Amino acid sequence: MYGAFKNYLIKEIKDIKEAGLYKDERIIVSPQGAEIELESGQRVLNFCANNYLGLSNHPELIKAAKEGLDTHGYGMSSVRFICGTTDLHKKLEEKIASFFGTEDTILYAAAFDANGGIFEPLFTEEDAIISDSLNHASIIDGVRLCKAKRYRYPNADMKGLEDALKQAQEQRFRIVVTDGVFSMDGNVAPVDKMVELAEKYDALVMVDESHSAGVVGDTGRGVSEHFNITGKIDLITGTLGKSFGGAIGGFTTGRKEIIEMLRQRSRPYLFSNSLPPVVVNAGIRMFDMMDETNELQDKLHANTAYFMKEMQASGFDIKPTQSAICAVMLYDAQLSQDFASKLLDEGIYVIGFYYPVVPKGEARIRVQLSAAHEIEHLDKAIAAFRKVGKELGVIK
Ligand SMILES: *Cc1c(COP(=O)(O)O)cnc(C)c1O
Repeated sequence: MYGAFKNYLIKEIKDIKEAGLYKDERIIVSPQGAEIELESGQRVLNFCANNYLGLSNHPELIKAAKEGLDTHGYGMSSVRFICGTTDLHKKLEEKIASFFGTEDTILYAAAFDANGGIFEPLFTEEDAIISDSLNHASIIDGVRLCKAKRYRYPNADMKGLEDALKQAQEQRFRIVVTDGVFSMDGNVAPVDKMVELAEKYDALVMVDESHSAGVVGDTGRGVSEHFNITGKIDLITGTLGKSFGGAIGGFTTGRKEIIEMLRQRSRPYLFSNSLPPVVVNAGIRMFDMMDETNELQDKLHANTAYFMKEMQASGFDIKPTQSAICAVMLYDAQLSQDFASKLLDEGIYVIGFYYPVVPKGEARIRVQLSAAHEIEHLDKAIAAFRKVGKELGVIK
């Protein structure tokens, strides 16, 4: 039997390669950080990690992770409701709720699971889910698992959202769902306006803060801080795999009764292992650090502003952003690949994205800033962008 299936896979993989969509994985042999070492021995500056606060290799978190290992062991060997809940899990859930100003939190193995397990337990075919067209794959999959009627509006388009809300008035309950920051453009969703529309048309609001938490808002408390609407978002999902240490783990935080229901019925929570104490204890320390100081957020915001200003002054076409994602627009797929490859030769690690990851004709290089970057790292990256930009005729 495998023969025919194998031939089918070989052909499909060949098609992926011919379409230029095959994903190669570059091997890193150092810890994640501003400067990393590749398998080739080359040391490069990393501008493509989600390590926004520079915590992936932070000594405080490593220490807390080791403590978690010493006091609570390596693995939980259980789901939460059988014997996988420790005092540490409860403490981390409280910390997350207190950080976002919400009532309760439920942990998952990943944000992918948080989004995958949020709709099906709460909504039925009587209800409506209204989703931004650029929402993350995990939201799309979560919506697919639920029988609610689906509506989709163009990215951040409040007229489109209002139309969908009007159409959905027949349904029993409505929920509007958006990413807080969209990962390809770095734009912040207009959640203030979404909350207004949701109030007008009687809908719940859910925001996935995976790219916005830790980054957006003066103290990194995400879009609700950015728009000064704390308490108005019913449900927030997020990850511990980006700003918040970068290891693994996800969460849903929000209204108490909703979280209670998720603990009873959310399948990725009920049927998947509990997070290990190493991760949970480091998470607790991480949220303590967020309460103690805004140093990292301040540095990230300053780094982003500096990089954007210098790149614009150099003549690059930069998408406006209030996040730590800077899209350097090149518009041509091949150019985006050549540009990224030449930057790597200069010691700058970034990725060029093109269709179908971004719309046709909107190829770009995505730069992700970090609090781990020092000013000399930024200057080196800007100089490399200028050099390659001139070589390839992108800037004068
Ligand atoms: C990264 C990301 C996720 C997935 O997070 P994991 O914890 O790695 O599963 C979900 N939603 C959004 C918007 C993301 O950017």
